[in-house]
Amino acid sequence: MMPKYGPDLGADPDQFSTDRAMAHVEQLSREPHGVGFAGHARARAYILGELKKMGLATRVQEGYTAGDWGNLSKATNILARIQGQRDGKALMLLSHYDSSPHSSLGASDAASGVATILEGVRAFLESGTKPENDIIILISDAEELGLNGADLFVREHPWAKEVGLVLNFEARGSGGPSYMLIETNRGNAKLIEGFSAAGVEYPVANSLVYSVYKMLPNDTDLTVFREGADIEGLNFAFIDDHFDYHTVLDSAPRLDLNTLAHQGSYLMPLLEYYGQADLGDLKSLNDNLYFNLPFFQLVHYPFEWIWPLFALAVLIFVVLLVRGFKKERLRAKGILRGFQPLLLTLAINGLLGYSCWSVIQWWYPGFGDMLHGFTYNGYTYIMVFVALSLAVCFHIYHVFRRIATPDLLVAPILVWLLICGFLSLELPGGSYFIIPVFGLLAALMVCMDQEGPSPFLLVFLALPAVLILAPFIKMFPVGLGLRMMVASTLLTTLLFFLVLPFFGQLRNKGRLAQLFLLLFFGFGIASHIQSDFGPERPKPSSLVYLYDADRDSALWATYDRQPIAWNGQFLGADRRPAENLGGLASKYGTKFSFTAQAPRKDIPLPYIETLRDTVVGEERLVELCIVPRRDVNRLEIHTNPIPLGLVRANQIELSPHFLKNRGSRLLTHYISDNDFTELSLSFPKDSVLELMFHESSNNLLSHPEFSVPERPDHSIPMPFVLNDAVVTQKTLRFD
Ligand SMILES: [Zn+2]
Repeated sequence: MMPKYGPDLGADPDQFSTDRAMAHVEQLSREPHGVGFAGHARARAYILGELKKMGLATRVQEGYTAGDWGNLSKATNILARIQGQRDGKALMLLSHYDSSPHSSLGASDAASGVATILEGVRAFLESGTKPENDIIILISDAEELGLNGADLFVREHPWAKEVGLVLNFEARGSGGPSYMLIETNRGNAKLIEGFSAAGVEYPVANSLVYSVYKMLPNDTDLTVFREGADIEGLNFAFIDDHFDYHTVLDSAPRLDLNTLAHQGSYLMPLLEYYGQADLGDLKSLNDNLYFNLPFFQLVHYPFEWIWPLFALAVLIFVVLLVRGFKKERLRAKGILRGFQPLLLTLAINGLLGYSCWSVIQWWYPGFGDMLHGFTYNGYTYIMVFVALSLAVCFHIYHVFRRIATPDLLVAPILVWLLICGFLSLELPGGSYFIIPVFGLLAALMVCMDQEGPSPFLLVFLALPAVLILAPFIKMFPVGLGLRMMVASTLLTTLLFFLVLPFFGQLRNKGRLAQLFLLLFFGFGIASHIQSDFGPERPKPSSLVYLYDADRDSALWATYDRQPIAWNGQFLGADRRPAENLGGLASKYGTKFSFTAQAPRKDIPLPYIETLRDTVVGEERLVELCIVPRRDVNRLEIHTNPIPLGLVRANQIELSPHFLKNRGSRLLTHYISDNDFTELSLSFPKDSVLELMFHESSNNLLSHPEFSVPERPDHSIPMPFVLNDAVVTQKTLRFD
């Protein structure tokens, strides 16, 4: 699926070198560089310097935006441009340079993308190729906070109107193949045809992943281009080792060099191809199905074929049924009995997969603190459950071995036709699963016509099934967490059905069941050995100091369900389950688990000035300015549930969509350079407005008022939550 990395520091100057790209990753991932952190400006300076070294004129675009998530920040985008030979739409290369606050080193996410672009553009310029189209390089900012940099570019930059296609390089893990995902408002036909013609050597893409991806709430910068300006885009992102995502483990040594080489192997041919192609002609009303296969690279065909292919499969099935009954190779009783092992395996394996994550968390409560939902030994768990599913399949089909193979195949074909019918209706991107079904139909014909069909032929007919389905068995739990193990066990079972013509002939299914049971225990033991936390597999932990100025009291708080000694010493023996503390924002809605009384410290509160408080008609207008009086990273504002009119923060209007769907949180300002927050809002004049301010700094471990020791090496800061923070809380009432 992907290139094999080999040392290539000496590669010709006009070639993409993974080693040279890796040198950029190392430079960019030495320290956390989220918006407002010290490393942020240094990362920007490095990128600007590298672009200048290539002889490119650079510029920056700076401004406040709030995106669609109510996250305000000052974004500073980096831009450069290569002139093309003709006027027309430009090709954009995009990645982001900010890392996720506060602890991520951002080597994969997204220094790998920035490095791919820097090295790719350098090689391209070195080759002396004169592109037809302009090439715009945008290294965006504040992606992690709400796609703010991309938002700023698309809404305000004059170049945005000139962009025809965006190639975006991203990461949600630190290894594995990079998946190509299409972002378009219409059909993908022309994009797929172009992508296919560009001659990418290792395309990893399929239309099912895109359909699923569209249903998930993980937007990338490309979403802003598509929604905001109707610009087409191709996304290249990898997800393996998802547990590294947004943590201090997202470091250069943990980034898989094969993965980085894969990103380069996408960029170079696409830069060549789309540097020349007409980018004004990418929109299409037609959609294509597509998937990658070894030796065939990208297979694609139009959506119009979906129903004819489905109808053809049904027709062949009916013809085979009629013929089978006529020739007495099929018997109604045998067919009916064939449903028993099928339903049993599906039910048992479905239940096993469904309960997987609950069982694992019950056995190892510490895993509840891995908010990714994918544990360090997650890959072994996938092996455990695949082995168990296969043991169940072989055992049950061993018990029902007296059913003749042709009779046995009818039920799986029917189930697969139902699945393909459903996919064709609901998730057309996945309806290419009909292709392996043709293999199964052919195998049924062979089994009806021949007494002892060649096992090689049967394996050959099942090959498309294995090649198309097997990658998904791993992909779902890696990408979506171990709670999706049910997808792995069910897909394993469904794949078993597709290979059933071959397995059905085997006499030793009972033995195979024992073998897989043995493998299950083997992998089970291996997973248990890898289940402890340690320096190799550090446990996420969290600690927050919260000073409540309204009550003049202070708390220690943690998100850990299982605190370690490091934070446990502050929570003490009298720790209590946390009540609702105003619900500080976190990526997955994680709440504090425990709190304990803390000593009062002298933490300066922000200075809050009321600039304006008037009644106009039925509305009361309030304008405030909140100025930090210490080094801070974030200001979060919550309100009581009253209807609000227009809300502006630092002159930026909050999106009506966000205001309509928000809970109590009104705004999170990710602060740079201790900047102020100017808030103006309106509400019905008879209502009472309550504003709660949480101002926080991620410097608990270095704060002079505290003596919180360094984390032990078997733990890392928990990602996705407010962590290692000194927080103050203050409420204002307007009645
Ligand atoms: Zn990212």
